Amino acid sequence: MVEAYIGIGSNMGDRAGFLKYAINGLSNSEEVSVTAVSFIYKTDPVGPVSQKKYFNAVLRMETSLDPYGLLSLLLRIEKDCGRLRNERWGPRTLDLDILLFGDLEIEDASLKVPHPSMLERAFVLAPLNEIRPDIRIGNRLAREQLERIDSTGVERLIAFDQSKTVGIIGASSKPDRYSNRAQIKLMDLGHSVVPVSQRDGVILGVPCLRKIADYWEPLDTLTLYLSPHRQLQVIPELVVAKPKRVIFNPGTESMESKRQFEAAGILTEEACTLVMLETGQF
Ligand code: ADP
Ligand code: MG
Repeated sequence: MVEAYIGIGSNMGDRAGFLKYAINGLSNSEEVSVTAVSFIYKTDPVGPVSQKKYFNAVLRMETSLDPYGLLSLLLRIEKDCGRLRNERWGPRTLDLDILLFGDLEIEDASLKVPHPSMLERAFVLAPLNEIRPDIRIGNRLAREQLERIDSTGVERLIAFDQSKTVGIIGASSKPDRYSNRAQIKLMDLGHSVVPVSQRDGVILGVPCLRKIADYWEPLDTLTLYLSPHRQLQVIPELVVAKPKRVIFNPGTESMESKRQFEAAGILTEEACTLVMLETGQF
């Protein structure tokens, strides 16, 4: 087994969702055992083209693959992610790079290890330093190298085990809607979002699902922006999605819905998601 470090990045749509997808994909591989994952970092994009901020993280693994085998696995996960999301969703991106592979040095057309630009990139060194400050990249310590370079625009956000996957039921692309403001705040804080709407194709860069039951990963929370009358029509599918909790935002409280969720073993709360996020109660 060899210890390897992987850099993960995304700057489109549900960025935290893509990072989680990559981590799950690697964890599920038989040849890989994930031994540490950094916090999620929100970082300014580098380069001349103006684009959204990136979410970045670094993962440590033990692997029985050789470096080329690992590279193919990474490329497959990048591609699967694009394909999976393309069919159901829209355009998006995930970037997976081998940063270090034991103390191997490779320099050929398809693979360069250690990753050639990692020494200059605070969005790589900051999360790497969090996992292993004493690791050497060539003859430099990660910790010392991080101190030498400029790390403005690199903000530590949230640990993966604190980030939640949230279904927004009754999502809307209208900026004056509470659901829209909640989605912005959720994404900003590093949560992964699944907007659900009959009407809007893509909200804030994240393609909508028509049914939350079609979502393929575990959900922590459903936040409701649907009238009590509309809720009753969709509760059967909401229950199938098995969230840990449901939040009734102001104006959506319903005794009957509450009864049906609780009968399915799902906790309910009457609260405002946006206020919870702003006060750190989420
Ligand atoms: P970048 O990550 O530089 O933004 P891409 O992800 O589009 O660009 O580049 C992917 C290609 O880079 C891969 O097909 C791979 O052959 C090559 N490559 C070279 N070194 C590495 C490395 N250490 N990790 C991942 N890909 C690498
Ligand atoms: Mg890459």
